[in-house]
Amino acid sequence: MKERCVDDLAISELLSRLGFDGEGAERALVRLCKDGLTRPGKTRIATVKIEAVEQALGAAFVRHCRKSTCLPSPSETREPIPVSAVYCETCGGSDNRRAVEQMLIAMQRAGWTKLLVAGGSPGTRRELERLCADRLDLRFVTNETTPNRKTVGPLLNWSNVAVIWASTEISHKTTAVLRGPKVLKVPRRSVVALAEAVQGRCAIVA
Ligand SMILES: [Zn+2]
Repeated sequence: MKERCVDDLAISELLSRLGFDGEGAERALVRLCKDGLTRPGKTRIATVKIEAVEQALGAAFVRHCRKSTCLPSPSETREPIPVSAVYCETCGGSDNRRAVEQMLIAMQRAGWTKLLVAGGSPGTRRELERLCADRLDLRFVTNETTPNRKTVGPLLNWSNVAVIWASTEISHKTTAVLRGPKVLKVPRRSVVALAEAVQGRCAIVA
């Protein structure tokens, strides 16, 4: 019997952690063999290979949950693999993530990179920032921003689209400066509401 390497783990466990189970796991395993990351009959894999495995599977398969909004687009070239929502590439089991993901794709299609958000609560702003990560230039106008043309005007000029988010969270003075065709009003406080509104605006220009 071969000595077991200390830094390894069961391939099935690694696949399961990435959302591949049952038939999905079998297909993933075939791919890993093709890519030379393992070979038929092996049950364990060195942990140093984990990153390469993630990359190989990410390039070959699109993991999606059952929600209609998460089904792969017709232009998707990777093989679809149904997974439970936590492993879904689009939503990760979170409606916020799904909505923001779709907003980011729509903005990219429209050629937009700059989003200005006025208002929102500290919590929802943080969540939006977290979900956009570094894939978008995101700036906020809050009640700490001095509300006049000098401060808000340049931000509005800079943006591709500006959102007044839940106007109750931001002073009238500030929203009064935010006028024009770029400005979108989102009366609801949720991240989903904001993301869907921006996505809708992108659809008009794209
Ligand atoms: Zn999903």
